[in-house]
Amino acid sequence: MENQRHDRERQRASRATWTLLLALMVVLAANLLIFRSILDGANSPSEAAEASQGGGEASGQGMAEAASDALVSDGEQQDTAGEQAYDPSADPRSAEFAVDPSRTEWNFDASDTKTVYLTFDDGPSENTAAVLDILDRYGIKATFFVTNINPDYQDMIAECYRRGHTIGMHTYTHDYAQVYASVDAYWEDLRQISEVVEAQIGYVPCFIRFPGGSSNTVSANYTTGIMSELAQEVVAAGYQYYDWDASSGDGATHTADELVEATKADTSYGYDSIVFLSHDGAGKETTVEALPRIIEYFQSEGYTFAPIDRQSRVAHHGISN
Ligand code: ZN
Repeated sequence: MENQRHDRERQRASRATWTLLLALMVVLAANLLIFRSILDGANSPSEAAEASQGGGEASGQGMAEAASDALVSDGEQQDTAGEQAYDPSADPRSAEFAVDPSRTEWNFDASDTKTVYLTFDDGPSENTAAVLDILDRYGIKATFFVTNINPDYQDMIAECYRRGHTIGMHTYTHDYAQVYASVDAYWEDLRQISEVVEAQIGYVPCFIRFPGGSSNTVSANYTTGIMSELAQEVVAAGYQYYDWDASSGDGATHTADELVEATKADTSYGYDSIVFLSHDGAGKETTVEALPRIIEYFQSEGYTFAPIDRQSRVAHHGISN
């Protein structure tokens, strides 16, 4: 009897201790949340204000600049505090660029001021760092449609983003037979690259580029009509796909001189806005070599450069499957 009573008291006492501990932890967590929201509140309004300066086209630029500015101050903090890491999900672009089926407005108007949207497919790879350095040297923001072809370079996705470039999703495997085996197979591939990108930048972006572009015919070898179906489905799900207007032809192997000449030939029609395809994948060393000359050529033709954002002109090819 006596022992049972003691046991019951002991149980009651330990239950009371646990309840108290739990209550303490809840209070602590609440305090931490309040503290964090005060910190966030101190940081974000100025970034948001910078990002919202100027509408339309300029807002994308402003956003990239705001991201770079946030970077600089983060870097400075890093020197003093030593452990303040860049938090991509705190970037103002995360709210703007995240996939969102309720946002259905896209810009198909070609009468842009002379703008080149440099886009790089098939990376990241051992060539991505050199591309980033060249873009920095010219103060240019671009767009990277990324893959998981070289998983060792996944962290370069975060690095591209940190340096103010837009991240879009290209494909996880880039294996046409696998990606276009069925509509479901495509979605599975997109889900896989989404996971990789989300781990790097904190969210799934709305920008995608189909392997081979929406006009590819190779997909017909695997599934008839798949591009027509996917083009509708991805947009309905809140994504937008971006094809291209011109390229340096670096999908195949060429010398740097040939890439520069092909760029001039492919853009001789003088469109106001050009979505320009190139590749920063493995083996694309001549793309890196040609890039400064390609940039300077566009500059000499009076173009400026911008990363893709929700206000950029959407380039669509005609669908052939
Ligand atoms: Zn590709």
